[in-house]
Amino acid sequence: MKDHPEYDAIVVGSGTAGAMLAREWSRQNKRVLLLERGGDAPLRESVTGFASVIDQVKVGRKLATVRALTKGGSTGLYFGVVNAPPLDVFNALGIDLASDVDALRRELPIAPLPDALLGEQALRLRDGAVALGHAWHKHDMLVDQSRCDGGYSHGALWRARSYVDDAVAQGTRLVTRATVQRVLIENGAAIGVEYRERRHMFSNVVHRAYAGKVVLAAGELATPALLRACGVDGVGRHGFYVNPGYAIYGLVPGMQGRDNFVGSMGCQLDDGIELGDANICRFLYKMMMPAKLKFRHAVAYPQAIAIGVKVKDGLGGELRADGGLHKELSEADFAKLKKGEEEALRILRQAGAQHIFNFGLSCAGRVGGLLRIGEHVDARMESPVRNLHVCDGSIIPDEMRGTPTLTVLAMARYLARQLAPAL
Ligand SMILES: Cc1cc2nc3c(=O)[nH]c(=O)nc-3n(C[C@H](O)[C@H](O)[C@H](O)COP(=O)(O)OP(=O)(O)OC[C@H]3O[C@@H](n4cnc5c(N)ncnc54)[C@H](O)[C@@H]3O)c2cc1C
Repeated sequence: MKDHPEYDAIVVGSGTAGAMLAREWSRQNKRVLLLERGGDAPLRESVTGFASVIDQVKVGRKLATVRALTKGGSTGLYFGVVNAPPLDVFNALGIDLASDVDALRRELPIAPLPDALLGEQALRLRDGAVALGHAWHKHDMLVDQSRCDGGYSHGALWRARSYVDDAVAQGTRLVTRATVQRVLIENGAAIGVEYRERRHMFSNVVHRAYAGKVVLAAGELATPALLRACGVDGVGRHGFYVNPGYAIYGLVPGMQGRDNFVGSMGCQLDDGIELGDANICRFLYKMMMPAKLKFRHAVAYPQAIAIGVKVKDGLGGELRADGGLHKELSEADFAKLKKGEEEALRILRQAGAQHIFNFGLSCAGRVGGLLRIGEHVDARMESPVRNLHVCDGSIIPDEMRGTPTLTVLAMARYLARQLAPAL
């Protein structure tokens, strides 16, 4: 044990939660080490830019999800859709996020998009859904509308890397290409971490760093396994959920669609089925269609229209010894997917779509449910290993299946406030 650790806190992962924690603590002159597995190359909306950050993770025989391994985490790939944090659910767990959410809403560019910033395909989809009686509504989006220049702009999406940059400017030490392999524990308390830093293609250096507090913020696909390796019981005991879904594509003859913010509108059906705008930007579309041999679609982006289906699956599956996830969907899950697909097809046809096809099953949202507040961590997000905290999407309560970024930011802001006096 080091008597005088060199850091007040080590934060594992520079995604939404890690970026917020580092920014808040560095503003208070705390000594923070932020370790990030990915690199820090600029985000580019291109095939190579995309390939350099995306990581596909299998969660079952036919199911996979994606994350971004890069400075700022999955906000490097996300769509910017904002669902409100479930304050009552957190209150019941002893966590009051209200003031954090208020502060974040004042600070961040959170608002629905005006029609002028939406593509023709998004508006047609809305008209089709409304004509069929759906309560199709706009979502709040994390988009700086002053940077939109009349339409979609990749650079207008808020990203957690801006908070990482703030933190570094305030004194946080950021190490990228640094993968935390284990937490160092002494007498039941975390004292630091061991991490591998990739310097060149064939050069890895293993380091140890020490701090008064360690926070795991490595995301829902990494943190549960790291915590289990610390000896915490029951990680994954309840199984997990994957929010499976489809994106269904069609072509509307004569339409003049343009690049569009995905997910800006949608509606809920009963039974935990959600439908939404799945009109992805041009470069992604052009990359995806040939992969399904849809050449006619690939060359017709302005006519392309898409709707997403996402359902609330039951908990199940296992976190295996090697950290891999495995889950098979139940008949009830498939019945919901079928019901959602049928309604999505009706909306697409109402919007004038032809040549409709289903892109295939995927994890349409987060993987979650492996860790629980009240079981694996307490209301200060501290695990049974003292001074080891968890703060990221992996501890969002099961009830919250929506888009998580605002919730994760609020949780991290809350934890930063709670722990600051002890750092
Ligand atoms: C395609 C896509 C679209 C999305 N769209 C939306 C949306 O519209 N709205 C929304 O709210 N959310 C969306 N999300 C989800 C959202 O981006 C994330 O869920 C959210 O950022 C979670 O933040 P986090 O801090 O838990 O984890 P992350 O942001 O994933 O950050 C975890 C970080 O930890 C790093 N890391 C992992 N393992 C280690 C390790 N061992 N050592 C060091 N570092 C490590 C990773 O590289 C990563 O940078 C989307 C996600 C994807 C992939």
